[in-house]
Amino acid sequence: MRQKIVAGNWKMNKTLEEASMLTAEVMRLLAAEAIHTAEVVLCTPFLYLTNIKAQVAGSGIQLAAQNCSEHEWGAYTGEISAAMVMSIGVPYVIVGHSERRQYFGETHKILAAKVDQALAHGLTPIFCCGEPLEIREAGTHEQLVKSQVVESLFHLSPEAIQKTVIAYEPVWAIGTGKTATSQQAQDMHAVIRAHLAAKYGQPAAEEISILYGGSVKADNAKELFACPDVDGGLVGGASLKSREFVEIVKAC
Ligand code: PEP
Repeated sequence: MRQKIVAGNWKMNKTLEEASMLTAEVMRLLAAEAIHTAEVVLCTPFLYLTNIKAQVAGSGIQLAAQNCSEHEWGAYTGEISAAMVMSIGVPYVIVGHSERRQYFGETHKILAAKVDQALAHGLTPIFCCGEPLEIREAGTHEQLVKSQVVESLFHLSPEAIQKTVIAYEPVWAIGTGKTATSQQAQDMHAVIRAHLAAKYGQPAAEEISILYGGSVKADNAKELFACPDVDGGLVGGASLKSREFVEIVKAC
C-alpha cells in the first residue's frame, strides 16, 4: 500500500506567530475530527522548523524543509544542508519546486545532487516535476516530465528510488486557481509510474507515492485524490488556511 500524503507548502509566508497559530489550528481541527486519512506534512520556512517541530510533537504531523543545498557542507553563505535538516529531526525536504527551477536556476543536475544529499542524510525528498503552459499547449508535456524524472532521479538505486516521493505539479496550475482535471492528473501520474516501472520494475513503481500539486482546494481534492495513481497532494495557497487544508486532508 502506497503512503497517502498531504503536504502543505507554506512557501515564504507567515511570521513566526502566524505560523504557530496556523499550526495550532490545523492540529486542533485534525484532532477534533480524528482525521488519520493521510500523512500530514507541513513544509514551513526553515527558520520555523524547530519551533513548529516542538509544537507538533506527539500529533503525528510531520515537517518538511522547502529546499536543501546540493553541497554537503562548507562556504555556501545562506544555504542549508540536508545534514542540518536531518539534525533537527525533520524527515522530508521538497526538491525541485518549479519556483526553485524558475527563479533560482535549478537544473536537472543540481536537483540530482540535492536528491542525493537528501537521501544520503536520511531525508525523504519530495521531488517536484511538471510542465509550463507552453509545453502543455505544444503537447510535449509527457516528454518534458519524463526528462525531469529521468535526469534527476534515474541514477538512483532501486532502494533509493523507493525512499523518494514524487510530486507532479503542472506549472500552469500553481497558484493560478486553474487545476488540472482529474483526467489530466491521472494520465500524467500513470505516465510517471510507467517510466518508474520500466526502469525499476512494476512492484517498485507501485510503492512510490506520486502527489498532485496545482491549485488543490477543498472542493476539488476529493475528485483528484480518487484517481488511482494520485496518492495525495502538495498544496500551496490552500495550506495557509487551516479549515481549507484540513478539508483537503479529509478528502485524501
Ligand atoms: C505549490 O506551490 O506547490 C502549489 C501547488 O501551489 P498552489 O496550491 O497554490 O497552486
